[in-house]
Amino acid sequence: NRYVAVRHHVEGFPSEEDFEVKKVKMRWTPESGEVLVRNLYLSMDPYQLNRMKRRSASHLAVDGIVPGERIESYGAGEVVASACEEYKAGDVVAGVLGWEDYTLFLPSPGVLMSKLAASDDDLPLSHHLSALGTSGMTAYAGFYEVCRPQRGEKVFVSAASGSVGSLVGQFAKLAGCYVVGCAGSNAKVDLVKNQLGFDEAFNYKEELDMRSALKRYFPDGIDIYFDNVGGETLEAALSSMNTYGRVALCGVISEYTDASRRAAPDLLEVIYKRITIRGFFAWDFLTRFGEFTGIIGDLIRQEKVQVIEDISDGLESVPSAFTALFRGENIGKKIVKLA
Ligand code: NDP
Repeated sequence: NRYVAVRHHVEGFPSEEDFEVKKVKMRWTPESGEVLVRNLYLSMDPYQLNRMKRRSASHLAVDGIVPGERIESYGAGEVVASACEEYKAGDVVAGVLGWEDYTLFLPSPGVLMSKLAASDDDLPLSHHLSALGTSGMTAYAGFYEVCRPQRGEKVFVSAASGSVGSLVGQFAKLAGCYVVGCAGSNAKVDLVKNQLGFDEAFNYKEELDMRSALKRYFPDGIDIYFDNVGGETLEAALSSMNTYGRVALCGVISEYTDASRRAAPDLLEVIYKRITIRGFFAWDFLTRFGEFTGIIGDLIRQEKVQVIEDISDGLESVPSAFTALFRGENIGKKIVKLA
């Protein structure tokens, strides 16, 4: 079996040289309840970088990745052999697999794995890593459950062309909100504005000052900020929030690569404006995974939501695909397709 490992702990920006493809002898016959899956699609997720760092108290929520060892990751694949009654060869599954050709896993209540129904066949399997996977759950739960939108409210989304951001903006439009996204290139801005239906979008790299950009797009203030990036974007958004505004802290990717960069919001302003800032994990909503992805699946079938994916080929492309997230080179959900 081949798998992708980190050579050493990764601090700061990851580079392709931080990774290696390793080969290992593997037992091909599942034993006592195990299931062997041939992986077809692997998910590239920014949070994995935090698992690659040396352990620190601030990253206790996720297990660390040990250099040289296999890396667990969300993925989709086909069961090739099974010693578990619930799974048989030919079943298609999505859940926690690994950055590897084959994964041998032991089903248990704590392991996220779903067997895909034949009725899901009309949508591409890769969607189970994007809109029908954790990105979809994050966007749906984060927007509807954490932000609690009302019709007509003004919503700002960062990393707007990304996997989570592109869905949040579309959900916000469906909820009758005014939506502005920011993204890191003109092609991304064009996508979210002209294809995904955001009301406005701008390239934050072309703005000298984020605060004045937000004042321009939100002359009456922001009611909801869905934060994917943290840093100065979060600080600027907070300074434009309306009274009783809500901020969903989904991720702070600008801080993952720079330990010295931490948003320092004006907390007195947060108090005066009674702003709610809530961090959340997609996993908090695991019991509602089927409900949320069912709704999103229907929205895709009705062509009310578009799924943007950016797919690379082959296990060898994992290092470049993963590091691309931090260079802003992906448009939509970054996925690696295995041969
Ligand atoms: P994306 O598809 O959005 O890809 C990452 C994007 O982040 C890049 O394309 C880039 O877009 C932007 N980015 C990268 N570096 C920086 C930087 N230094 N400053 C600002 N923007 C940057 O990834 P996901 O949709 O998978 O994840 C988005 C966020 O949501 C991440 O922070 C992630 O950790 C978080 N997340 C949280 C979950 C949860 O349970 N809370 C679950 C899933 C994701 P651009 O070119 O526009 O800058």
